[in-house]
Amino acid sequence: MKNKNSAIDPTEMTCQEMESFIDDYLDNKLSDLQRDTFDAHIDYCPDCFNFMVNYRNAIRLGKTAYADDYKDSCEKMPDNLVEAIMQASKK
Ligand SMILES: [Zn+2]
Repeated sequence: MKNKNSAIDPTEMTCQEMESFIDDYLDNKLSDLQRDTFDAHIDYCPDCFNFMVNYRNAIRLGKTAYADDYKDSCEKMPDNLVEAIMQASKK
């Protein structure tokens, strides 16, 4: 059990509030107090901890998949294929 946020009452934040703050938390947009309260809540509440972990993984997987697919499809497209498409679209 971590005690770094022991000064903060984890019940200051409800599970519903935690869900509404999670995007800002992951984007580092929360104030220090909001962030500490959020941290205290997920230390205290296993449901929200699991929710946060799954949510963060889902976002990371989503962003990674999108970024990789998009980048690869652009970078790996050979010049002659691009030219062929350009030619075909002119006809
Ligand atoms: Zn909770």
